[in-house]
Amino acid sequence: MKLAIVGTGYVGLVTGTCFAEMGNEVICVDIDARKIEKLNRGELPIFEPGLEIYYERNRREGRLHFTTSLEDALPESEVIFLALPTPPGEDGSADLSYVLGVADQIARWMVAHPETGYKIIVNKSTVPVGTADRVREIFESYGLKAGEQFDVVSNPEFLREGVAVDDFMKPERVIIGTRSPRAAEIMTQLYEPFVRQGNPILVMDERSSEMTKYAANAFLATKITFMNEIANVCERVGANVDEVRRGIGLDSRIGKQFLYAGIGFGGSCFPKDVKALARTAEEYGYAFQILKAVLDVNERQRRLLAERVYDYFEGQLEGRRLAVWGLAFKANTDDVREAPSHVIIRKLLEHGADLVVFDPEAMANTRAVFGDALTYAPGMYEALDGAEALIICTEWNEFRRPDFQRMRNRLARPLIFDGRNLYHPKRMAEMGFEYYSIGRPHYP
Ligand code: NAD
Repeated sequence: MKLAIVGTGYVGLVTGTCFAEMGNEVICVDIDARKIEKLNRGELPIFEPGLEIYYERNRREGRLHFTTSLEDALPESEVIFLALPTPPGEDGSADLSYVLGVADQIARWMVAHPETGYKIIVNKSTVPVGTADRVREIFESYGLKAGEQFDVVSNPEFLREGVAVDDFMKPERVIIGTRSPRAAEIMTQLYEPFVRQGNPILVMDERSSEMTKYAANAFLATKITFMNEIANVCERVGANVDEVRRGIGLDSRIGKQFLYAGIGFGGSCFPKDVKALARTAEEYGYAFQILKAVLDVNERQRRLLAERVYDYFEGQLEGRRLAVWGLAFKANTDDVREAPSHVIIRKLLEHGADLVVFDPEAMANTRAVFGDALTYAPGMYEALDGAEALIICTEWNEFRRPDFQRMRNRLARPLIFDGRNLYHPKRMAEMGFEYYSIGRPHYP
C-alpha cells in the first residue's frame, strides 16, 4: 500500500519505518527541514533501539522517503497518517491546532485535485474524544463525501519509547476506530502482518477508540502514582516497597508491571494525557477525582529527591558540586520532555548548586534546555569527580552494576540519592555509602 505519514517524530518515524518494513511504500512528511535533511542524509534524528536497521534497509530498498512537502506526499498515498504533536494548552486540554490545520490542508488539496481517489485520514496522535468527528466535518465543509472520497479513522498508538520498534512490530492489540466498513477493511489489511501471532485488531467506533488511548495512559499513570504513594507510606512505617511490589505483583489481577516506585512519571505522554482527560471530563461536567490526585501526587513526587538533597545539606546548596546520572525521562530513550530529572535539576539550580550531569543518550537534548547552566561530563565516572553527592534520575542499565570502588574514589563524599531504586540499601551501607532511595529502609 502507499502511505503518507505526516509528522516524523518519535511516533511518525517509527510508524513509517515499520510500515515500510512490511513492504508498503511510505513517504514521511515534516515541517522541520533540518530533521528531513538529516533523514535524507541517512542520519536518525532520535535515539530508538532497533530503528536504525529498518530505517537503513527500507531507505536502501526505496520504500521509505522523507519530504517537507505535504503536497508531494498526497497524490499517491491511499492512507494518510497524522502523527502530529498534541501538546497541552494552558487549561490542560490538548492543542488540536496541528491536527486540524493539517486536516484542513489535506481537504483543500483534495478539492483542488478531484482526480485523486478515495483516501483514509488516520489519526495516530493522541486526541480528545470527538476529534475524528471534527476532522470529518472539516472534509465535509469542503463538500467531500465521507465513505466515497474519504474516511477518517482513529488509530491510537500504544508504542513505548525505548522499545517502540518492538511494540510497533508486535503490538498486543491494534485499535481501529471507524464506522466505515470500507476504511475498517483497508486498515485491517494494513495491520494484519503485525498480528500474525494472533493478537487482536479491535474495530470500534471513533469515540471509544479515542477514549481507549486516554484510559490506557491514565490507568498506567495511576498505577505508578499509587505505587509511589505506597512507597511514601512504606518509608514512614518502616516497610520496604520492593518487597511490597513483589508481594502484590504476583496477584494476577494486579500484575507485575508498572509497580516500580520512583520520582514520578514524565515523558511527552502521561502528564499531558492525564491532564487532557481530566479536562475533557470537566468539559462534560464530570470531576475526575482520581486524575486530579494523580497529577498532584506526581508533582510532589518529582520534587521529592531535590527536597531530600536540600534537607540533607540544610539548605546550603550554593556552589556545592553535585553529580546527576540520568537525564532522559526513562531508560533507552533520548527524550527529555517532562523528565523528572529536569524538575530536580531546576530546583537544585535555583538553590545555587553546581551540577555535573551525565546521560548515555540525552545530553544534547538537555543541553538544548539548560545550556551552560550545567557541566556535561564525558562519562558516568567523570561526572563524580569532586561531587558531594550523586543523584540518580534514570534507570539506565549501565548504572545498575557500576564499579562502586571507583565511585567512592571519585566522589568527594560517598553519598547517593537514588530516585530509581537501583541498588540494595544494605549492601550500599556495607560498602560505606550513605544511600537514600524511594520507599525503602535507609541503613546508617
Ligand atoms: P514529536 O514531537 O516527536 O513529533 C511530531 C512531529 O510533527 C515533529 O517532528 C514536528 O516537527 C512535526 N510537525 C509539526 N507540525 C507539522 C506539520 N504541520 N506538518 C508536518 N509535520 C509537523 O511527537 P511524538 O512523540 O511523535 O507524538 C506525536 C503524537 O503521538 C502525540 O499526539 C503523542 O501524544 C502521540 N503519542 C506519542 C507517543 C510517544 O511515546 N512519543 C506514544 C503514543 C502516542
